[in-house]
Amino acid sequence: MTTSDRRLPPDYHSHTILCKHAEGIPIDYARSAKANGLTSMTSTEHAPAPEPFSPGIRMTLDDFGLYHQWIREANSVEGIEVLLGIEADYYDDCEPFLEKWLAEHPFDYVLGSVHFLAYHRDRDHSLEGIWDSDDLEDIWSRYFARIQRLADSGLYDVVAHLDLPKKYKPVPDGAIIERTVKPALDRIAEAKMGIEINTSGFIHNPDEQYPSVTILSWACERGIPISFGSDSHQPQRMGAGFDRGVQAALEAGYTERAEYRGRERTMVPLIAVPD
Ligand SMILES: [Zn+2]
Ligand SMILES: [Zn+2]
Repeated sequence: MTTSDRRLPPDYHSHTILCKHAEGIPIDYARSAKANGLTSMTSTEHAPAPEPFSPGIRMTLDDFGLYHQWIREANSVEGIEVLLGIEADYYDDCEPFLEKWLAEHPFDYVLGSVHFLAYHRDRDHSLEGIWDSDDLEDIWSRYFARIQRLADSGLYDVVAHLDLPKKYKPVPDGAIIERTVKPALDRIAEAKMGIEINTSGFIHNPDEQYPSVTILSWACERGIPISFGSDSHQPQRMGAGFDRGVQAALEAGYTERAEYRGRERTMVPLIAVPD
């Protein structure tokens, strides 16, 4: 079987050098995505913020023109389409800026993320021990309370890496997960948003996609659509782990996945990736 027979779903999550912690530019990701059997990808660089808000891990406002140009140029790679996306943090009082800025650009896909339990405008969060707490329920409660507000904001199409706290801390017991995650899923469903199956979890602890199959099955019960993202910070990782990610979605009960263009969603059948 050749890579082109693998029928991987589109990869809706990748970065560039503009966030200062990834390699390559969209054309590098497009070439690699094509080589790995993809026919569609979306670049979702970390969105700028208007003030000195963790500038060490995101593009600047002035970078956006170049970013958009790079994406147009990446479409010169034959056999793969490259869509314009963004990964925007949900932080306190982000709404006025994001509402205006997102509307000014022709995005295909807007990912909403919570990367930290607490956001401070003037700190470089990449250097902070912001996940430090010994109380797992406190961590999951605070994180998912912010996810609820993210959903209520109406700014985003899809929530990124939904159970991210497991990257930094042990997974809590099932009752804590249920108490903290289900109310957030209800709000995501009410907001008619999707969630991503983020396969970078396979290179993090505890070696599973974000979110777990249990959480995916609760999302499936609520009719929350799924899309797939590798969260690549290196071009060669495009589409990585998608076979396992699709398997997890099927196990959770999904039969369809979402595709996006111009922030409009269409549903297509979910098909296992052949070995
Ligand atoms: Zn992220
Ligand atoms: Zn990302």
